[in-house]
Amino acid sequence: MAGFKVAIDGPAGSGKSSISKNIAHKLGMTHIDTGAMYRAVTLLAIENQIDMNDESQYHFLEDVHITYKDDHIYIGDRIVEKEIRSKAVTDHVSLVSSFPYVRKKLVEIQQKLGETNNIIMDGRDIGTVVLPDADLKIFLVADVRERAKRRQQDKQNQGYEVDIEKLIDEITRRDQLDSQRKISPLKKAEDAIVVDSTHMTLQQTVKKIIELIQSAKGVINE
Ligand code: C5P
Repeated sequence: MAGFKVAIDGPAGSGKSSISKNIAHKLGMTHIDTGAMYRAVTLLAIENQIDMNDESQYHFLEDVHITYKDDHIYIGDRIVEKEIRSKAVTDHVSLVSSFPYVRKKLVEIQQKLGETNNIIMDGRDIGTVVLPDADLKIFLVADVRERAKRRQQDKQNQGYEVDIEKLIDEITRRDQLDSQRKISPLKKAEDAIVVDSTHMTLQQTVKKIIELIQSAKGVINE
């Protein structure tokens, strides 16, 4: 599969990252989780105690290197996998990702990473902004209660109890902020295929998207 690019966008908790990672392993592609990159910037903003509402304070990004490699998110050579999943990061990431300066910086890195052969990149604006020429664009959706249930199950597996209604509120709030922001909002690209995973398991969704990749690839090779 030389130079095949897949863009996967969709709302919070739709399983984009787990599914993309799974597909990447099965097909020998490189996976890039762009949400993890916005979370890394948010983590740094919290650690640096900047005024998160002031866009000019994000210029610390000139001096740090954020990247996603081999299923890990890096700030410099520090892996921040756990830290970026904290409640504080989740609560502020939609604000941080709404600033044009932050997006410009991360989109540059993502487009550079996208030059790699055989890539599967997930986020909110991959099909619309980061990889507008992707060979296949998927818009992955699922009912909000189902997304919250899956998130609750993940937390339970890690030993935490979380109230489902609180999760629904958090996911809904983040989707609203992400879809309503002025720059690069969460939106289905015109040429994206909608996959609704509400009634599918993770493996069924993986299988469905692999079929779509194979048929898109078939069309390209014809
Ligand atoms: O994918 P995940 O839920 O980890 O993304 C965290 C947040 O990062 C999103 O809620 C959104 O605010 C932001 N994001 C974005 N553009 C992307 C990926 C994520 O604005 N391409």
